[in-house]
Amino acid sequence: MKNNVIDIRKDFPILHTSVNGKPLIYFDNGATSQKPQSVIDSFSNYYTTLNANIHRGVHTLSQQATQAYEDARVKIQQYFKAAHSEEIIFTRGTTEAINLVAHSFVKKGDEVIISAAEHHSNIVPWQLAECNLQVVAVNDKGEFDNEDFKKKLSNNTKLVSVTHVSNTLGSINPVKEIIRLAHEKGVKVLLDGAQAVPHMKVDVQDLDCDFYAFSAHKMFGPTGIGALYGKRELLNAMPPYQGGGDMIKSVSFEKTTYNDLPHKFEAGTPAIAEGIAFGAAIDYLNQIDWKWAAQHEHDLLEFGTAEIKKLEGVKIIGEAKEKAGVISFVVEGAHHYDIGTLLDQMGIAIRTGHHCTEPLMKRFNISGTARASFAFYNTKEEVEIFINALARSLKMLR
Ligand code: PMP
Repeated sequence: MKNNVIDIRKDFPILHTSVNGKPLIYFDNGATSQKPQSVIDSFSNYYTTLNANIHRGVHTLSQQATQAYEDARVKIQQYFKAAHSEEIIFTRGTTEAINLVAHSFVKKGDEVIISAAEHHSNIVPWQLAECNLQVVAVNDKGEFDNEDFKKKLSNNTKLVSVTHVSNTLGSINPVKEIIRLAHEKGVKVLLDGAQAVPHMKVDVQDLDCDFYAFSAHKMFGPTGIGALYGKRELLNAMPPYQGGGDMIKSVSFEKTTYNDLPHKFEAGTPAIAEGIAFGAAIDYLNQIDWKWAAQHEHDLLEFGTAEIKKLEGVKIIGEAKEKAGVISFVVEGAHHYDIGTLLDQMGIAIRTGHHCTEPLMKRFNISGTARASFAFYNTKEEVEIFINALARSLKMLR
């Protein structure tokens, strides 16, 4: 089991590079995480030894590539403890996974409950589907308002679609309770897992969620691929999302019959190399001691939060009791964009802006934040350097 940050850092080549002449400190993990060597190698191995289109070739390479791609699906199924491998639908990422549900599970006029802290990708798909959105409030600490949720949840609700962890605030939502309450009324639940998966091990059967959306690139895997987990009976009852090759059993001009799960939802040549590399990321994550990782990230969060609060005029946005390793902040008299630019000069990568959560910015009456988001490969020393650099930046800006 990997539970030593110095050893873990050796697995990530980019962490040993420099930016603007300074050793890179990468605190933009919420946007995307870095990749271990095994994931990087998976690409060159695939294109060197395995490249062929999948699912339809009789030749050996095609069969081997198909096997490797389908093995990745099984790895993901087992990692997320889904009951069946066909419950894992490969998508381009969280965004496409949510769009799939918005296309195939709801219809115009259906009531969908989201929260005020959602990423645009868990707002706009429901608007495109012309659903009736009900928005659960978040309190001043950035916590999901359970009482408001209970008021909004009714037998008319078709779906509850909320984030597991907020990308902007770091709040970990009480998803088990949300699911329990929704199911009491016979309402299905989709969790946007984009920001949960880098920080914790998720068990979809234990959560009992109906859908779970996630992206490989946020869990130390490649861009361009992710997945939708869905309960088999729900996915079976849903119409296909896109039409094309692979998603059919037979096609004629008069009548087309659709393929079985999971292929029914996977039209066209998929991201084969990325899927296999996603499997390599899962292999890597299976070696991580998650108890250690959670404690390590919590320590970074506590330390960073205490230190940042010592700086004058700095306000943290998002102080939920249950929080992942994310510190979003605003500074009196300094624009977040300028803070990000100065930190970049010192080799420190943070995120600035609205983080694709414009309604949440409105809720807090701000235009954006500066955000440092941690992963298990970050260190306390990096947080120290970041705090010192931030203090210096603020002196320059104010
Ligand atoms: N939901 C949340 C909470 C996110 O943070 C993100 C990515 N920033 C997404 C959804 C969308 O993920 P992707 O761009 O990988 O589809």
